[in-house]
Amino acid sequence: MLDKLRRNLILLYTFSTSLILTLVIVILFISSFNQGKNFQKESFQSTVFSISSSIKREYVVNNSKIIKLEEITDYELSKLEKMDKMIIDMKETNPDFKGAWTPKTNRDALLERLESELNKIQITSNIFKDEEIQKPTITIKGDNRDYYYGASISIPGLKDDIYVMQYIDFKRIMPIKKVIYYLCIETIGILALAILSRVLVKKSLAPIEENMKEQKEFVAAASHELKSPLAVIQANASAIKFNPDNRDEYIKGVNTECKRMSRLIQDLLFLSSSDSCKLNIKKEYIDTETFLIDAYERYRSFCSESQHSLEINLPEEELPFIYVDKERLEQVFSILIDNAVGYSSSNTNIKITSFVKDKNIYFEFEDHGIGIPDYAKKNIFNRFYRVDSSRTDKKHFGLGLSIVQEIVNMHSGSIYLRDTLNGGCTFIIKIPIEV
Ligand code: ADP
Repeated sequence: MLDKLRRNLILLYTFSTSLILTLVIVILFISSFNQGKNFQKESFQSTVFSISSSIKREYVVNNSKIIKLEEITDYELSKLEKMDKMIIDMKETNPDFKGAWTPKTNRDALLERLESELNKIQITSNIFKDEEIQKPTITIKGDNRDYYYGASISIPGLKDDIYVMQYIDFKRIMPIKKVIYYLCIETIGILALAILSRVLVKKSLAPIEENMKEQKEFVAAASHELKSPLAVIQANASAIKFNPDNRDEYIKGVNTECKRMSRLIQDLLFLSSSDSCKLNIKKEYIDTETFLIDAYERYRSFCSESQHSLEINLPEEELPFIYVDKERLEQVFSILIDNAVGYSSSNTNIKITSFVKDKNIYFEFEDHGIGIPDYAKKNIFNRFYRVDSSRTDKKHFGLGLSIVQEIVNMHSGSIYLRDTLNGGCTFIIKIPIEV
């Protein structure tokens, strides 16, 4: 399922970012193309301007009489035309000139089109009567997907307009090299985006993947733990049928397993509520010293049942009130003392120490039991983790420390583990004192 999601996300990210990249490149391409086109148009306009000025030089209007200074030779026209693929039509002065190159569309047809298009454009006023009139530059479409800029020049004194056209060379505006350049940027960009999407999707899905793995392991371990009491209950139930004389013993077995199952289910419900942030936490100000003395009273007899002594170590200065969920804190004490008793032999001491340091209250639970080996320390707070499952009795599911950690986290605190001098382990809880 996650693989499919990952694939879809990579595709979606690559596609959407590539689309944006393509759009940007297309915009850049179009603006560069338009720039090239404008540049060619401007260069055409300046050519038209220089042709018009050179003609003006050749013809001087004097007392309404045109004095022809020098003839523009066909040779000069040819040179102009060939240089920039121009079409210059000067019927009046060079009637025999037939053009110096062959455009894709018939030359006369193009000139006719230009003339008719320009005639449609009205020049409303001509204030400078003696000046030449230059109509705007227009674009003429040929018959073979060829395009031309066109303009006309009117010289006072000359009867016919001079028509000038220039072939729009798209290859010059956007050389193939430039197109390849844009395509390369696009391809490299898409490849880079695909790689980036892959890395980002992998990174963002990693916590979900980890979470799903943990959930799977949790469900597998929980089902395994639930299966064993069920099997015992089933066995006891059928034993009652075949051996009714020992009924009381079997019923006792069923009861014990039911209690065990109920505790396990409670623990599982606690953890799942904590995972989904549905756990209710009822904080109140409690007197730490009273809380600790009560706890001592409560657990002293429990410890002495298994021949353990319980000691409480308080500082000389008074401990402050703390803002905690009292019931949950009691649960923490119960789990840690239960573990200390369960994992240390009789006639050993269990010590609870409390002190304040840097606006935090500390609770230390020290025992002299079997201790926790270094290799297990990093996993000790994982759900269902037991250092050595063969070492534990049936009361232990490997959930106690996970529950303690959740409760401590709910109080914005932290829990550490350290070896006790001369064997055993010490759990240290640090909770910030809320004022
Ligand atoms: P369990 O219900 O098995 O005690 P916990 O989560 O409380 O589950 O503890 C996890 C494991 O850590 C235990 O199975 C045990 O191996 C180890 N452990 C916990 N507390 C102690 C302790 N005080 N001394 C030695 N080992 C401990």
